[in-house]
Parts: sequence; structure tokens; C-alpha cells
Amino acid sequence: MHRSSWIALGLVALAIAGGFWLVSRHYRKQPVAFEASTRSEVLALPSNPTAGPIWDSAVTLVHLGDFQGAAKLFAKGGSQSAADAAWPQAEAECWAASGLPDSALSALERCLLIAPLSAQALATRRTCRLGVGFTMASTGQPWKGRQLGQAVLQDFPGDSEATLLLGYSQAMDGNSGSAETLLGRLVQEHPGVLQAYPILVQCAFWRGDAEAAKHWINELTARDPSSMGISAFRQKLQAMQSNHAGVASHDLRIVCQLTCPFGLESEVMESAQTAWNFLASQIGSQPTLPVNILIGGHAVAPEWAAASFDGQVHLPLEAASDPSRRETILRHELTHAFLAAVGAGHVPLWLNEGLAQYYQGARCTKLPNAASADWLDSLETRKTFLDLDEERAELAYNYSLAVSQELMELHTSTTLAKYLENLQNGLNEPEAFQKAFGDDYPHLSARIRARL
Ligand SMILES: [Zn+2]
Repeated sequence: MHRSSWIALGLVALAIAGGFWLVSRHYRKQPVAFEASTRSEVLALPSNPTAGPIWDSAVTLVHLGDFQGAAKLFAKGGSQSAADAAWPQAEAECWAASGLPDSALSALERCLLIAPLSAQALATRRTCRLGVGFTMASTGQPWKGRQLGQAVLQDFPGDSEATLLLGYSQAMDGNSGSAETLLGRLVQEHPGVLQAYPILVQCAFWRGDAEAAKHWINELTARDPSSMGISAFRQKLQAMQSNHAGVASHDLRIVCQLTCPFGLESEVMESAQTAWNFLASQIGSQPTLPVNILIGGHAVAPEWAAASFDGQVHLPLEAASDPSRRETILRHELTHAFLAAVGAGHVPLWLNEGLAQYYQGARCTKLPNAASADWLDSLETRKTFLDLDEERAELAYNYSLAVSQELMELHTSTTLAKYLENLQNGLNEPEAFQKAFGDDYPHLSARIRARL
């Protein structure tokens, strides 16, 4: 019931990575402002109080366009004059000019140990963070892309490219609702950020929202008529619109993907709406965009999983047809939909799965293996439980429930709402958690583990 959602996320991320890769490739042309043929005056080097023959040789290499060679010389000089930040800064500029933003960022780290960064160094760090961030986000590490986007926004509040990176990372992480909110706001303020539109189209497709997809395709066509992919988007939209429309309310859309017994969509709608209202009262806020529930259809989840959430809820026909299981399952999967939307995509895996189980009605009273399993204290940073063996994965899910249950028993739902609000306001997750619950995960975990 739970593991599947993360498998599905991975699959979908892979499936759309191809489409989004264009975005990052398009983007990466910009940060690398220095082509190999660029003259050295474009690459402004800092003035250097400890200059000497090494510095001069490095500058000569810069003039020749050998930025990598220059970077290595600047690094050598820097190791001999450890108190002069000009060396690592010049090194960083050269790595950036060579198209190696990773190396530039580590040189800037060394720079920062000596002195605060100059305005130029800050600008270089921004460019490199964006470059690395887009690459990370499109190669399976969207959370790293997100961290880098947030780091840029700390230096440059309101930076539109950093916001684009955040939205892109959210989309690649499977949080299409959060991505749409972020990017929708971005294009409202900066309609010229063209790379945002294809992502918005993809996210709308992903949520199964034909209306939204059509809107963003039209926006994209109006602003960037030559954009690749418009005709493919239109074809996909057409296919989507010719599908059976299902049953819709303000909050939900239920669609049978294969043949369903007559009236099943309405029955599922009733259960889903009950689950929705329950969650809205417990969590204190709800997604602003409607959530799709797809009955039957292709199996995105392994056989044993009851259902999954990957931006849309996938509900197997057997589960949908069983009134006694249906609502429990929907409470679980819709919790994921709620947390993805109202937690700005930042709710960690353990709390996500813990709350989904808690709201489905599961409770945990004892876990015989927890006390000796100190690896549970590091569950906080896990992005997946799939790399654990089956026994450990089972324990990870149960333990996530135990910790979430403890939180919900010690606090009110107002505290949870406060935590989610902190996340929406851009606080980083540990800080949002600490401010709302007055505790941190490792401490909480150690305490619970000792007791179970
Ligand atoms: Zn789950």
C-alpha cells in the first residue's frame, strides 16, 4: 500500500525526464557565459595582493583560453597563500568558464573560509548552483536540485531562474501540484520565463487535468510558437479529451480506465469525498487543485500493493469494488495527495508514510525489533525505503507510523497545520519541524525507540 507510491514516483520521473531534459539543456546554455573563444576581459579576475609568477602564468593561460590549466595553477598558488581569497576565487571563475560548475563551487567554498564572497563571486556561485541544480534535478536527484534552488534564493530572493529550478525539481520529484503552484506564480510575475510553460503542461497531464493542460499549451503557443513539443502536447491533449470523462466534483475526479461495473465511479466518489472531508478537517488545509483517482488501468504498482499515488491515485479494480477496504485505502493515498500539495512537497518520507497510515486508521503499540535498530534514527533523511531488505522496509514503515502517532498524540492537528504552513512559507524542513513540534526527529526517535 505504501512502498508502491515511491516506485511509481521513480517510474514517472523517468518517463518525463526525457521531456524535461530539454528544459535543462536549454537552460545550461545560459550560465556558461564564457565560450572557449571568449576573451579574458569577460572573465574578470579579482585583484590579488599575493600575486607572483604563478599568478602571472595563470593569467597568461586565461588569455590563451586555457581555463582548466589556469584553474589548476590558481589552485596551486592558493595552496601556497592560504590567507588570500583571490586565489580560490580566480580558480572558481576559471572552472565556471570551463563548464565545470561543481569544481567552481568547491573552490568558492574554500574562498568562503577565508573571507565573505565578493559580489562577483556571489554571482558566479549563483550561476554554478543553478547549472548543477538543473543537472541534478534531471538526473534523478531532484531533492538536490531543490536544495540548490533554495540556496540561490537565500542570496537572491525572488530570483526567477532559481524559482524555475525549484518548480522543475518539484515536478521531477512527483509533486506536480506544488510545481504548478510555484511555476504558475512565476509566470504570472515573469511571463517571459518560457521554460516554465512546458513543465506546467507536463504537470497538468500528469494530474490528468485536460483543462489546465489546454490552458498552458495555449500560453506556450502564444509566447513561444516555435517551441518544440507543442504538436506532441496537442496530440496528447486530444487523446486525453477523447477518453471517458468519469465523475467529477470540485475536489476530485474519478475515472474508470477499463470497463467498470455500472455506478462504480459514483460509489468511489462517495468514499473518496468522505475520506477527503475527513482529511481536510484533520490536516486543516486541502489541495487547491482537484485530485484524480484512476480505477484499474495499467499497473504502476506491484501486485501486492493496494494502490499508489504518483500525482494521481491509482486504485485497482478489486480494491475499488470492495466497500470495506475502499475508504481506508483512499484515506491513505489521499493523505499523500494532501501532503504533497499543502506541504509544498517537503514533507519527508517517514512522516508522509507515517501520517498516511495514521489517517487510514492504523496504530502501532509495540515493535519488538525497534529498540536495537539504531539505524531507525537516521530514517529522517531517507528518500526511499526500497533499498532496504524486506524485513527492514517493513520495520521502517511501521516505525514511521509509531513516530507519527507519537507526534499526533502529543500535539493537536493545529500543530501539524503550523508545520505545513512553515513549509509553505519556505522554511527548511528541520526548522519547520522544530518550530512547530518543538523537537527534532533524532531526539524524538531515540526516545520512542527506547520505549517500544
Ligand atoms: Zn503510502
